[in-house]
Amino acid sequence: MAATAEARYPQEVLDAFEQLKSECAICYQCGTCTSSCPSGRELYRGPRRIVRLILADEIEAVLKSDDLWRCTECGTCTDVCRMGIDVAAVLHRLRQLERRHGGIRCAERTAADVATGSLKKRPRIDAMRFGAAMVSRGYVPKDKVGAAEMGVKLARQLLSGGMKRPAGASSPAADPQHASVTLAFYAGCSIPQDRELHALVHEVAAGFGVRLDEARDAGCCGHPSRGTVPSLFRTDERVYTACPACDASLAESGVEAVSLWDALTRRAAREPSIAVAAAGERFVPYVGCLADRDSALASLGDAAEQSGAEMIVDYPTLHNGCCGALGGMYRGATKSSARLLEFAARHDAPVVTTCVLCRDNLRSAARELPLPATVRFWPEFFRAVPTTMSAAGTAADAAVLEEHTDDRP
Ligand code: SF4
Ligand code: SF4
Repeated sequence: MAATAEARYPQEVLDAFEQLKSECAICYQCGTCTSSCPSGRELYRGPRRIVRLILADEIEAVLKSDDLWRCTECGTCTDVCRMGIDVAAVLHRLRQLERRHGGIRCAERTAADVATGSLKKRPRIDAMRFGAAMVSRGYVPKDKVGAAEMGVKLARQLLSGGMKRPAGASSPAADPQHASVTLAFYAGCSIPQDRELHALVHEVAAGFGVRLDEARDAGCCGHPSRGTVPSLFRTDERVYTACPACDASLAESGVEAVSLWDALTRRAAREPSIAVAAAGERFVPYVGCLADRDSALASLGDAAEQSGAEMIVDYPTLHNGCCGALGGMYRGATKSSARLLEFAARHDAPVVTTCVLCRDNLRSAARELPLPATVRFWPEFFRAVPTTMSAAGTAADAAVLEEHTDDRP
């Protein structure tokens, strides 16, 4: 152990680094973790170099690396490491150590601290309060036009009482005559704050014959706090979600979370009375970094096939590179988002994403670059249309929806 590190850091840190060092000792610096990281192009060091610095006793360099907070916790590095090193967990533990003994001041760490403070006072993140708290700490939104539009929208809703919608409201747009299946739905923090979008999610689900029963008092999934505030969600049943970050956090809390969009697509595939319609002839998929890349892309491919829209795919990582929200804070267009938007503009096709935050970040990037690319959230592009077959639900509906995505035909 380096003498300078021993002098500077308490025993807790030295012991933790010794433990991390032994867990990472089998790393042979292949770099697969960094090359697979969706945020890799935007990171200064990347997971491979962080591991190398741990092995070299470079405690200060590790604890002063912004990359600890710019990591989005997607877990890809862990999945791909051939030596079985849980790299994402190593980064998580380093963030905990940095919180106690570091002192990084960067937007992503501040965002996590603001979210943690907020979630200790109220159950969900309020976008306006969050934005104001970040500005008061010197972090002005990168996309001022987008932030202003969002602010005006939220202010209008507030004035008209829209923000008073209870977070656990159930299916405002679902037609009970048509809905044959009720699903436990977790809307997260962002969607319920946008009244029109919230209604659209319910309306699109209702078109598929699905009534969304939103969990009351579920609170935030905990993702914005980087695990400091755990999810309040408690359920024994499967939960359907509309946000990959919520999926990941609920799964960490032991809740089985399934993508609503995947469930709706599978329902249409097996229900002759329902067909999927698309709002355009072609689209470019984007699944974000926190979704299971392969299954999310396959699900969008299924929706494309059923609707007759062409899904334009290039190399797989084009469709899950960083949208610009490193660690939850939008930092501007990234190399990945620029490539995606250029690709979409070249093909004159909208980007369709399964994550509403990715949608907003990609729209901000398109404004910044600027590029003539449009970006749509899944329910803004796909919806159900009835076929000539009976629209009445069947007893098998619930069973079909309860099947896991693993048994896709
Ligand atoms: S993938 Fe695993 S073995 Fe390869 S550099 Fe990353 S941590 Fe080391
Ligand atoms: S968890 Fe994801 S974002 Fe973080 S270093 Fe690993 S691959 Fe990159």
